[in-house]
Amino acid sequence: MISNVTKNKKLLDDLIITCRNNLPSVNIELITKAFELSLEAHKNDSRASGEPYFTHPYEVAMIVAKEIPLDDISVVSALLHDVIEDSDFDLSFISKEFGKEVAEIVDGVTKIGGIFKGQEISQAENYRKMLLSMVKDIRVILVKFADRLHNMRTLEFVNPDKQRRIAQETLEIYAPFSHRFGLAKVKWELEDLAFKYLNKEAYEDLVRKIKNKRKERESYIARFTAPIIEKLKEHKIEFEISGRPKHLYSIYRKMIKRNKPFEEIYDLFAVRIIIESNDTNECYYVLGIVNSIYTPVPDRFKDYISIPKTNNYQSIHTTVIDSQGRMVEVQIRTNKMHEVAEKGVAAHWKYKENKFTSDSNLENWVNWIRDVFESASKDEASKELLASFKLNLYQDEIYIFTPKGDLRRLPVNSTPVDFAFEIHSKVGYHCIGAKVNGKIVPLDTPLHSGDQVDIITSKNQHPNKSWMLFVKTHKAKAAIRRWINKEEEQLVETGKDIWEKKLKKYKLTYNNDDVTKFANSQKYENSIQLFKAIALDKVNLDDLLLPKKDKEVKEETKELEFDNFATIARTDAGAILIDGSNQNVKYSFAKCCNPIPGDPIVGYITIGEGIKIHRKTCTDLINSVKKGGDRLVPVQWPTADDSLFVAGISIVGEDSPGILKDISHSITSYHDTNIKSVNITANNSMFKGAITLYVKNLDHLSRIVERLKKNKGIYSVERFDSTTSG
Ligand code: MN
Repeated sequence: MISNVTKNKKLLDDLIITCRNNLPSVNIELITKAFELSLEAHKNDSRASGEPYFTHPYEVAMIVAKEIPLDDISVVSALLHDVIEDSDFDLSFISKEFGKEVAEIVDGVTKIGGIFKGQEISQAENYRKMLLSMVKDIRVILVKFADRLHNMRTLEFVNPDKQRRIAQETLEIYAPFSHRFGLAKVKWELEDLAFKYLNKEAYEDLVRKIKNKRKERESYIARFTAPIIEKLKEHKIEFEISGRPKHLYSIYRKMIKRNKPFEEIYDLFAVRIIIESNDTNECYYVLGIVNSIYTPVPDRFKDYISIPKTNNYQSIHTTVIDSQGRMVEVQIRTNKMHEVAEKGVAAHWKYKENKFTSDSNLENWVNWIRDVFESASKDEASKELLASFKLNLYQDEIYIFTPKGDLRRLPVNSTPVDFAFEIHSKVGYHCIGAKVNGKIVPLDTPLHSGDQVDIITSKNQHPNKSWMLFVKTHKAKAAIRRWINKEEEQLVETGKDIWEKKLKKYKLTYNNDDVTKFANSQKYENSIQLFKAIALDKVNLDDLLLPKKDKEVKEETKELEFDNFATIARTDAGAILIDGSNQNVKYSFAKCCNPIPGDPIVGYITIGEGIKIHRKTCTDLINSVKKGGDRLVPVQWPTADDSLFVAGISIVGEDSPGILKDISHSITSYHDTNIKSVNITANNSMFKGAITLYVKNLDHLSRIVERLKKNKGIYSVERFDSTTSG
């Protein structure tokens, strides 16, 4: 027991020393607490190697502290990265004890881990983007790299199936990913380890060959570098020079790509000169020295200092030929460039913390981060992004698994319907429900990255107009619209059929204009809309096509307006002349015939109600008169100075720009007829108008009515009159 305590104390001390050596600041208390919690949480578990499980989070924390050093929060998160999954401690506990940042990183690492479980990787690029879309803190990715690196280093203990799966995943997802982050060293190690498990024979063959060649290589490198070293010393340049073999996987890849045996992969010999000072100019100075000793190969020169790679890699690459005609690649870079190349983001971070960087370098770093993720973050927010480690990548995209484990990319807030159309339009057209991660959900449920979606279809299901309200993809929208249009075409056809049958039934003939007028009278924009309504049984043609009924409907509206008009016209005309003069006798207008100015009239003397003014043609009056003929009195409309009276016209037509102008022109251009009032109401594409105007007599009025009827788009023009029916 005591030995365990001592051992653990030593482990913790080592970790803290490593942190102190590599990190800008170290919260010893927090690291100690995380160390102890991790120890406790994993105390009953062991690894495939038989070691206590705790060795894993501990080694991951060591990698984070030493190999991709960023900050102490990352180290704490690394210690705790498997706690949630493997113990009863939950996220809120971690948040309470270690702060929100640590909790979020641990949560992120756990979630990423869950995504890959049991999935065949078929679209690596989509996987990487999905990862990024889920990760909001750079440190999540770094801890995940460290986690993966340690798992790869200890992969020999797990079964061969799992070895292959993890190695494949590493090669396709994590290695290219670490390259994007500029973590060259991590990338090489991940690739070589993956290579080892995916192609053991080739790997071991290469290892053997390199070992055999080591002596030869080392002595060659010594001979090659000797004159360079001498010159550099002469010029008092502080440097490190190394002849390094390229990492195994890249040699292997080159052999395959160029179809050449190991021996012929010429740049197996590569020399790297790292300059101690951070003066970029010295790199070019050194280049000059190398070129003065060996002959450069012109088209093999690359200046990544002036034009850094997208992952911000900086270095000069030149290939030279020695006296025996052997080509050697020489890389020249400053110490800082080297660190950036090897440690990527972490190195940048270190320089930032140490105030190594000026603001413009900081800006470059931010730009680089953007390039890395291929997606621009919100411009001015870049500094905040840097300060908070926050990422905002691919936030407008989500990645969804098919039941077979394929990944489909969709816009954020996409629904099962979008997903269904993404798979196939047939699936979309017939989707009736969806299972998301095994649970049935409504079709408008927003999906999230990493969801697995299984669409349920039914032959009887068809797209619904309401789907348009929630689908997000262009594909789904276009397909649904297409279906709706097709469905509408069929509706119109059906409606037209019914319409024509009804016309036959009532022995009616309608030309195109008539159909449009009819549609308008029913408040449909055009015949297409009418046919659709007919097909949907919204229009009762039997009722409407009966001529009598049609008239009754018209009358109703007219009467309403008539009362109003009659009052205006009568008031305007002035007091009725009774028996030739303006007498102070009480009179009123008979409701039975409703005379209006211009009508020939006669007075009927009643008992108690004074004189009733009737039209001369009123049948009620004629009947009354038959009973006692002596009660009539001659009356007439007063004659104004210019002998005009107010008449009313009701007018119905197609609402179009300029229609009002046409109407008033028709009236006023006829003998300077004056308009008293115009009242137009439009409904859909129809308008209904009530016009009052001054006319000399009924003849004058009927001429104007005729003129109005000639206007295009006018359906009916009638004098206001309550008695036309009957
Ligand atoms: Mn782990």
